Amino acid sequence: MEEKIKEAARILAESKHIVAFTGAGMSAESGIPPFRGEGGIWNKYDPASLDIEYYYRYTQQSWSIIREVFYKYFSSSVVKPNPGHEILAKWEKEGRLDCVITQNIDDLHKVAGSSTVYEFHGNMSRFVCSKCGAKFPAQSLKLTEKPPVCPDCGGLLKPDFIFFGEGIPLDAYNGSVEAAQKCDAFVIIGTSGQVSPANMIPSIAKQHGAKIIEINMEPSTYTKHISDIFIQGKAGEVLPKIDEEIKDKR
Ligand code: NAD
Repeated sequence: MEEKIKEAARILAESKHIVAFTGAGMSAESGIPPFRGEGGIWNKYDPASLDIEYYYRYTQQSWSIIREVFYKYFSSSVVKPNPGHEILAKWEKEGRLDCVITQNIDDLHKVAGSSTVYEFHGNMSRFVCSKCGAKFPAQSLKLTEKPPVCPDCGGLLKPDFIFFGEGIPLDAYNGSVEAAQKCDAFVIIGTSGQVSPANMIPSIAKQHGAKIIEINMEPSTYTKHISDIFIQGKAGEVLPKIDEEIKDKR
């Protein structure tokens, strides 16, 4: 592992444009459970509650689960960024990382200080009105057992993350594709690569000549196919180690 960390650090130190692509594993050490697999949220709850048609049709049932899972379980007052999030924010401030493309909806990259974050699946810390389109920080709303309504027009509010059956936000999609095409190093962190179309972004970087560095506890769908370096370990431990190595190369 030490050799791989050194090699990753060498590539990153020489790169002008670095992009990070993150998934649920990035936030696991912050205490946010994955959706699938052991300890996964969907072992306990029915994922249908996150279907957009279900939300509009059976709003009360859907909202009860969403509130329980997302706004009690891992609200931002409980979870905090881990050292992995902090290193990515630091690399952006140092001018070496162009952006983070994240599939996570937990806002932890921004809380850690990253500013260019393409939220491929939206962000649970905002709500959007299904009638007038106004957006509100979750913290400004009183989230009770009743489905939340828009303070401006009274329309139904929806968490501003992507439900099943909804499209990817265009600005996040376009920004991610552009960043993947431009970068010379692309770091995949904590994602199994099973969720489409997000899972196509790393291949775009590969096709455009980027070196692919992957950090994951387990091999993923990317590992054999596109990863140049696979570092098996926890994001919150591996990223600080790479950063230490980069320091020596400055
Ligand atoms: P996934 O659950 O399919 O895969 C998670 C991956 O992270 C696995 O490959 C696992 O081996 C790895 N992993 C677990 N702990 C790790 C750690 N400490 N360090 C490094 N890797 C670790 O996740 P996915 O690919 O992101 O797809 C799940 C979908 O569910 C995404 O679309 C995402 O939007 C959503 N989701 C979001 C959150 C969140 O916002 N934090 C949490 C769960 C799921």
